[in-house]
Parts: sequence; C-alpha cells; structure tokens
Amino acid sequence: MSPRVLKFGGTSVGSAGPLAVALKLVAEARTERPVVVVASALAGVTNQLIEALGSARDGALDPAAFTAALAGRHRELLAAVAPGPLGATATLALRRTLAEVEVLLGSIRHSGRIAPVTADRVLAAGERLSVLVFAAGLTALGVPAEAVDATELIATDGRFGEAEVDEAETGRRTRQRLSRLAEVVPVVTGFFGAGPGGETTLLGRGGSDTSATLVAAALGAERVEIWSDVDGVFTADPRHCPEARLLPQLSFEQAALLAEAGAKVLHPKSVAPAARHGIPIWVRNTFSPLSVGTWISAELPAGRELSDAFA
Ligand code: ADP
Ligand code: ASP
Ligand code: MG
Repeated sequence: MSPRVLKFGGTSVGSAGPLAVALKLVAEARTERPVVVVASALAGVTNQLIEALGSARDGALDPAAFTAALAGRHRELLAAVAPGPLGATATLALRRTLAEVEVLLGSIRHSGRIAPVTADRVLAAGERLSVLVFAAGLTALGVPAEAVDATELIATDGRFGEAEVDEAETGRRTRQRLSRLAEVVPVVTGFFGAGPGGETTLLGRGGSDTSATLVAAALGAERVEIWSDVDGVFTADPRHCPEARLLPQLSFEQAALLAEAGAKVLHPKSVAPAARHGIPIWVRNTFSPLSVGTWISAELPAGRELSDAFA
C-alpha cells in the first residue's frame, strides 16, 4: 500500500502540547497505511543556530553554554513524550550532535570565519535533534520508529545554503533506504540533503516542506500532509491580515504561485515534486486538527477559479 507522508513544522514539534498531538496523528495514520514523518527543527532553533554562527565568528559566543541550553530544551521535551530509558537513549544521541555543534562553533570562534560547509552543518543540527525527540515519542506510544538522516535520501548538487536536488537519484536512494516501511516509521530530518561528496547541504529556509514532497514523490505516496500552525493556505498571511480567507482547495499551479509569492506555509519549491507525480498535498493545522485545511491537487472542482477566492 502506498505510504502517507506527514510533515510537522517547527511550532508543531516545538513544545509538548502540539508534539503530543503530532505523535497521536502519526499513530492514527499508521493504523491505515505505512507512514513517513518529516520533521523540522523545534520552533526558533534554526534562528538561534544562525545567530550562534554570527556571535561565534565575533568571539561573543560561549559554545558550551549555547549547546547546553539547546540540550536542556530538547531533554525537557523528551521527558514529556518519552520518559524513562527511551528518553535516555535519545539523550545520548542528542549529546553526540550537540558535541559536534560545540566543536564547529568553537572552530568558527577560533578562526573568525564561517565556512559555508560548516554553516550548513551547524544549521542542520536543529533537524538532527528534533527527529530524535519525535522518534522516541513515537516509540513510547508503541509505534516503532527510527530517526533517519536526510543525507541518506536526498541527493543535491552540493551548493551550500540553497542546493538544487537531483530528483532521480533522490528517488533511488529514498526507495532503497526506506524499504522497511511496514515495520518501522522513519522520522526524516527536513531542510537538507547531501551533496556529491556526502556533505550536508541545506535546501533553503523553510525547506522541510520540500523534503516532504521529495520523499513523497520518491515513494509514490498516497498524499503529503503539511502540518503547521495555521488552518491552511490563506489569501494573505492570516497573522498580519485579519481579512485573509482560507482557500480550502487549490490546484498545484495555484498553490505553487501562492508559495512563490510568499505564502510561507509552503516552501516555494515544495509544490513541484508533488505536482509532477500527481500526489495531493493537504495543508493542516496541528493546533486545530479537525479544521478542513487546504487540499491541493491536479484539478479544482469544475467552475472554481483562484480569482473567486480573492473576489
Ligand atoms: P512551519 O514551521 O509549520 O513550517 P511556517 O512558519 O514556515 O510554519 O509557515 C506557517 C506560517 O506561514 C503561518 O504561521 C503564517 O503566518 C505564514 N503565512 C504567510 N502567508 C501565508 C498564507 N498565505 N497562508 C497561510 N499562512 C501564511
Ligand atoms: N528549520 C528550517 C527553517 O527554519 C527548515 C524548516 O523549518 O522548514 O528554515
Ligand atoms: Mg515552514
């Protein structure tokens, strides 16, 4: 049976309440068909890592104190969703990633410069940490899960910061690596892939949506669900525009246009992989899981135009 891909953004995994909802949603979906999870970094973490790069370069950062604070936040979440030995195992893995971040930030502080290869590795740590918490939380619910690093799945051209993806190679790697979907739920890091030499390369800010549709395309998924903190795609940013209206249905073309025009709920490059394979995208709200969301597919019902929604 074709799998379903569920992607959770930063606010959906960033605190215990929504994270518990996300874990339950995955457990429920898993009773219907195989599931792949794609997770972003905890809300705010990517921004904190960007700031840390700058202050390390300026000699103003204590790398050990910085990583200790990150460890504390992730451990608190672990204690909420995976208490006991499961959490302890994940804590060891958290420590390994954070030890590397500490070394990298220390080297930036020492040299006074940020190499692009180092920047991408530091920024990817947010997702490398969050998938450990998510996978432990699923296992605690009785759903066997494993954290999967997207460098094993997503092949890029190696351009740091905003790499282009080789979709054919990504398809091959993803199908091979995620071949045990019936047994275990992979929890894949959003936001990055691997360049030709295996180096971590980011897909650009907000790129986890694109990670999700790439994995969905590779696996011929039934659909991709993008779980965020708004009811779906609106006519404008609902946080700044009180008159913005929800768009319950969009064609791929319309969704791509809105994403490229700045509807941040979807990364600009996220619609294309799903559209090419005819895989519907359903944008939904972790903070209101019963809301209808926005359904994005090849065709709109007859007679519906995007302009109707803006009229
Ligand atoms: P996530 O961390 O879940 O990926 P993002 O912050 O990347 O979430 O995207 C969700 C945010 O996108 C919303 O909180 C909202 O403020 C913003 N946004 C901007 N434009 C739109 C739009 N047209 N429709 C919906 N959300 C939008
Ligand atoms: N964590 C990354 C960012 O903040 C990727 C994402 O959230 O999609 O840009
Ligand atoms: Mg986003």
